[in-house]
Amino acid sequence: MQREKIRKEMIGRLNIHLASHYGMCFGVRDALAVTRNTYDENEVTVLGQLVHNPLVSQELIENGIKEGELKDPPTNTKGTVIITAHGASDSDRVRWSSPQRKVVDTTCPLVHKAHQSLVSLIDSGFFPVVIGKKGHAEVNGLIGDFPQAIVIEKEEDIFDVPYEGKIGIVSQTTQPIDRVNELVQRIRSLRNNAEVRFIDTVCSPTKNRQEAVKNLCEVCDLIVVVGGSNSNNTSQLVSTVERLGCRAVQVERPEDIILDWFTETKAVGVTAGTSTLNETVISVYERIKVISEELTVKDREYLGKERILC
Ligand code: SF4
Repeated sequence: MQREKIRKEMIGRLNIHLASHYGMCFGVRDALAVTRNTYDENEVTVLGQLVHNPLVSQELIENGIKEGELKDPPTNTKGTVIITAHGASDSDRVRWSSPQRKVVDTTCPLVHKAHQSLVSLIDSGFFPVVIGKKGHAEVNGLIGDFPQAIVIEKEEDIFDVPYEGKIGIVSQTTQPIDRVNELVQRIRSLRNNAEVRFIDTVCSPTKNRQEAVKNLCEVCDLIVVVGGSNSNNTSQLVSTVERLGCRAVQVERPEDIILDWFTETKAVGVTAGTSTLNETVISVYERIKVISEELTVKDREYLGKERILC
């Protein structure tokens, strides 16, 4: 059933599969749409990187949008400030609110849900633990109001989790759920005197893209993952592919693609992180089709030479 959802084309000598779920999620798309609506305003500052995607960053610069940081002192910033889809802590929201500027909040509703889940655990007496990437904007927002919180990025970080009492865990929305479940299990087994409660806050677009890339790995020998080099969920897709023993390459745009990657390849899968524009994915897909046709021509030329030599 799952395989039927994959779009597949035989072009030249390659089978090319497009993942059933890929690319920009509704949270990033909405944040980008709101920001595009401010292009004709005088002074607009995004507090952090709106989207971890160099093409979008370039578009924002060309339209005069400045990039600041949530941690910056707000005093000198006027006009409109935009909180990104990654969200912010309440203390940062308070610091930035002022009659001299308009604050536009594009926090994704699913990031809001992760914040609410963490707060509900803390209110019920649980010690806060967040599974996610240390220093990532979303994780900083989640723990910003709770200095006691621990972030678990690797198994070694479990060392800092209290041995007893109540431990409440949420996850960064873009972590692979398999990895999160593994870490939760590990915490449960290493802290077996504690009451451990986990609220699954991995967002559905991330789960769908992770599931779809696993399906691609069943039928492809190379996966091209389209997304910014600093996009966490893009690199998580690459990690999943590699964990499954399949070959992965990450590209930001079609020009990054190298023909040699495909010489030993029969079936190639294409997917993209949640911050990747759909037009970029389609242009990468089209570039792979052209490469496949070029490889077919090379094959024919090679066979022609072989025949002459015989
Ligand atoms: S990746 Fe998930 S949580 Fe993040 S913006 Fe997209 S839908 Fe929202």
